[in-house]
Amino acid sequence: MACQPRPRRFEQGEGREPGYLAAIRTLPCLSCGMEPSEAAHVRMASAAFGKASGLGKKPEDRWALPLCADDRRLARDAQHNRGELAFWHELGINPLICCQKLHAQRGDLVAMRAVIITTIAERGIGNGDTASAASL
Ligand SMILES: [Zn+2]
Repeated sequence: MACQPRPRRFEQGEGREPGYLAAIRTLPCLSCGMEPSEAAHVRMASAAFGKASGLGKKPEDRWALPLCADDRRLARDAQHNRGELAFWHELGINPLICCQKLHAQRGDLVAMRAVIITTIAERGIGNGDTASAASL
């Protein structure tokens, strides 16, 4: 054990949860419901959620959500190709609330899946007010 090379600091750094990201990649895309997904980190800051923006720094892994490759980065209106706030607002999903619900179920793939399915089913119902929940 002692002779093994230590993992790079980035990988073992605070907020890094490789197992959690692997679980997220097994979940349906929040936009289209397709699987598998990629882990999309939510970069917006929110004082209400105790989330700092960390300029230029990747957010902690608990602020990641499942999006398929198309919706995350390939499509013209993918999350990476437009304003993050506009992307989630149009979906009718408050990404920070979803992150909190999902992370609360970490370690339980069935419960995590239930959070995603419920979030998709409730899109636009009372949680479309992303702009006020997240201060830029
Ligand atoms: Zn998708």
